[in-house]
Amino acid sequence: MPFPRRLAAGMKFLLLCAAFLETPAFAATTASPLAEDENHVHCDNCDAWNEPQAPFNIYGNTWYVGTAGLSAILVTGPKGHVLLDGALPQSAAQIQANIKALGFRIRDVKLILNSHEHFDHAGGIAALQRASGAVVAASAAGARVLRMGTAGSDDPQFDPKSPRHIPKVAKVREVGDGQTLRVGTIAITAHATPGHTPGATTWSWTSCEASQCRAVVYADSLNPVSSDGFRFSGGNGQPDISASFAASIATLAALPCDIVLSTHPGASQTMEKQATQTPTHNPFVDPSSCRSYAAVAAGKLKARLDDERKSQVGAAGH
Ligand SMILES: [Zn+2]
Repeated sequence: MPFPRRLAAGMKFLLLCAAFLETPAFAATTASPLAEDENHVHCDNCDAWNEPQAPFNIYGNTWYVGTAGLSAILVTGPKGHVLLDGALPQSAAQIQANIKALGFRIRDVKLILNSHEHFDHAGGIAALQRASGAVVAASAAGARVLRMGTAGSDDPQFDPKSPRHIPKVAKVREVGDGQTLRVGTIAITAHATPGHTPGATTWSWTSCEASQCRAVVYADSLNPVSSDGFRFSGGNGQPDISASFAASIATLAALPCDIVLSTHPGASQTMEKQATQTPTHNPFVDPSSCRSYAAVAAGKLKARLDDERKSQVGAAGH
């Protein structure tokens, strides 16, 4: 549904007021059961990533409902909403409260999509699926991990000594590269962008304000980090995935893109842009933003492959 900027700005002010007045009442007044803080995950960055973040409008019917360090994006429509990502298991209740704070109902979320199959983006999906009754969809490789609850050795960050678990999602619909999923008038297209994980998926859709429509892209991570011993250039029993990783970066750079959003908000300066939004100036609208995001990723991949050539070992990372 188109959402005029002035209305969005006014709503933001009301939300700010509501946040002060109503925060303790969220759980008591939620119609659907509040998503459980299930299988709380601990990691070096988890507490900082899970810091609360007030929800806000990005453009038109696209909203940020994630935490301070992990994106969750809501795309709303009169026939139901689409939620992209669920952050950590312990983020689910916060995402649900953010959706409610914007005036939307969790039970109207009909479709939940995943960027990539890591605990910090897929961890909250099981609880949010139960709270909403939504269909969950992901790439084939992503769906396998969501169903099993743990990544395989083809994941660059797989560590057999301390495998990461996520709450399992029993039913996951598999989505192919280029496939479009619809909820009412919302149409969201999957773009396979493997590299960071085998199932990594970038999603795109259109959001409008009055007659002005923009191409929105939820760019998946293109960060070439791994556990010790993994090589993107192959070896240690793994295939060379450097060419497909580079192709993913090229895919992102070539997408129609007026607005880029990223799985970690910092990767596309989400909070900095939000801080300077005004009713007449929206810094999220930047037709060069996907190309800039891709250029940073290309630089990181080149540096990583150079390192692998020099050192013959995989670098540690998260
Ligand atoms: Zn990841």
